Amino acid sequence: MMKEIAPRVEIDLRKIKHNAQVLKKLYGEKGIQITGVVKGVGASLEIAKTLIESGITSLADTKIVNLKRMRMAQLNATFMLIRTPALSEIEQVVQFADMSMNTEIEVIRALSAEAVKQHKVHSVILMVEMGDLREGIMPEDVPDFIRQVLPLPGIRMAGLGTNFACFGGIIPTEQKMKEFSDLVKTIQKQFSLLLPYVSGGNSANYQWFKNTKDVGMMNHIRLGESIFLGRETVHGSPIPGLYQDAFCLVAEVIESKWKPSVPFGDRGRNAFGETVSFKDRGMIRRAIVGIGRQDVLVSGLTPVTPVEILGSSSDHIILDAKSSSLRPGDEVRFSLNYGAMLSVMTSPYVYKKYLHASEKDDSSVNRTSA
Ligand SMILES: *Cc1c(COP(=O)(O)O)cnc(C)c1O
Repeated sequence: MMKEIAPRVEIDLRKIKHNAQVLKKLYGEKGIQITGVVKGVGASLEIAKTLIESGITSLADTKIVNLKRMRMAQLNATFMLIRTPALSEIEQVVQFADMSMNTEIEVIRALSAEAVKQHKVHSVILMVEMGDLREGIMPEDVPDFIRQVLPLPGIRMAGLGTNFACFGGIIPTEQKMKEFSDLVKTIQKQFSLLLPYVSGGNSANYQWFKNTKDVGMMNHIRLGESIFLGRETVHGSPIPGLYQDAFCLVAEVIESKWKPSVPFGDRGRNAFGETVSFKDRGMIRRAIVGIGRQDVLVSGLTPVTPVEILGSSSDHIILDAKSSSLRPGDEVRFSLNYGAMLSVMTSPYVYKKYLHASEKDDSSVNRTSA
């Protein structure tokens, strides 16, 4: 039998589509629109297309090159840059993004000048700092900031947003979400604005969303992980009715031998400068698979095959094969967390195998990434 390429990540587009449809319906029932955040999958065009087929009409990424690639592929969606633009990329931002999230007035002034030059209107969502301490304008500074944005030509003040659980691990609780909602209400009244985007968070907002009686002013959410891995991100719990296994990493055994479980000889540091210790399990079957830290965030892998990860170097993962009689050429399967998914989807060394691509688009089957 012809062997399949390894290492590879198998991506079940039907499962992603299911997850996206369920989430769109769920959030839609309380008036919340979804933007699909594709940064975690390297803005794979096959996956972006699948989201559009699921009824998602807006796609977001943190990298302008990814938005450019999706735009060039003529995907039918609005494109949102969800990291505040760098001054060095303003021209491309106006060219390839319909909208960007912002926190710096200098940047918005530059966007304004560029939008005028390109005869375009660029929409901005202002990010408000609610405590997670990554990006955001401090709440008390928001009114003055808006006062400076409103007169800028070529700029549309499209909304207010906030982000949780990305840096400081701050949870979007009922109280936090109400604070944000109240701020939005005050701003809308003060400036007689109607904001089309009140973008209250990401996959960390699920528990709040399920439990709250009132989503307040919030009408938009940016979702990556819960679409791709079927999880909320505060506790990492599975969301009922969604698939957690749309992604699976497959690696190939390149060595399998009975060896001691503890290294022998004088010991110093390993290739990564770490001093490692080992449990003595006597002689064990050790299997090596041909993938390593250069290709994947190894700590984010969980073997589906009944083996245990003992450690890894740049291009090897060393396994305790336990009772599996692994031989060279055998395949070992792993499930992935968000970090592992992100690393394999952006690695040029991991083959992308798409399962269940829609029939009308057979060009998307078995294609490697760019
Ligand atoms: C990555 C990101 C998201 C999506 O987060 P998930 O946890 O994958 O849903 C949303 N908003 C911003 C600003 C992001 O950077």
